[in-house]
Amino acid sequence: MDIVFCIIVFIMGTVFGSFFTLAVYRIPLGLDITHSRSFCPKCNHRLEFIDLIPVLSYISLRGKCRYCGEKVRIRYLVLEVLSGLVFLLAYLSFNMNFPFFEINKLVDFAAFVMFYVTLVIILGIDKENIKINKSVLLFGIIMQFVYILYLYISAQIVTFDIYRYGMYLILMLIIFLLDTLLLSKKGESSYFLQILMLLDYMLMCVKLNVFLFIIALGMIFALIYWIFKKVECNFSGKPDILLEQKSRKFGVGFCFSVSAILVVIINNFIIF
Ligand SMILES: [Zn+2]
Repeated sequence: MDIVFCIIVFIMGTVFGSFFTLAVYRIPLGLDITHSRSFCPKCNHRLEFIDLIPVLSYISLRGKCRYCGEKVRIRYLVLEVLSGLVFLLAYLSFNMNFPFFEINKLVDFAAFVMFYVTLVIILGIDKENIKINKSVLLFGIIMQFVYILYLYISAQIVTFDIYRYGMYLILMLIIFLLDTLLLSKKGESSYFLQILMLLDYMLMCVKLNVFLFIIALGMIFALIYWIFKKVECNFSGKPDILLEQKSRKFGVGFCFSVSAILVVIINNFIIF
């Protein structure tokens, strides 16, 4: 049994989970995500290593800051546990045959982790700010191309696939240029074009049939999210015009990203 390795993978997931909350908070503010240490947003006390252990710190401190007693949002704990579970599910879905890992499967798993990291940070930022962060997307695209290069060198894909990926890349450049043009003219990046870039990135990462499932499930999520948001706005008692604006704006990228993570994991379980 590879139960020990499963636990290690779960812990890795929770560590990524706590990194995500930090990245989602800091990236839109233009803050550094790797070097500066975390601090409590209430008392500004620098957090020590012992305060930063995923899940365990939260439980041992009963969800409060060690220095000022301010409540820490339960959302952090939920995100860490969820992230641990996604890692575990993904690991199981790759059927890696512990401890005799095949190098190809290990690389596949690493590529999935990069896909997941990119999408989780994008969906977190999109949910809060209704915006797809282009630097995070660029990170994902570069990682995916390193993976594609590996697949090509190890003869797992053929020249035809390289043309296909080249086409997606050209498409990405065209959308990016259009968006930059709009940005310089209107002073505002187009959310629609940002979503197209996100979908094009997904096309680079998954097969076409998987992509269609992602779109279908993403649209269902978006519909549920939109209805939920409308109901929430109708009960909040704010003036109609404000409600109208608020219910129209919601994270479409968030819906497609959640859909992509789910569909890819389910698809892995089916093929392996
Ligand atoms: Zn504090």
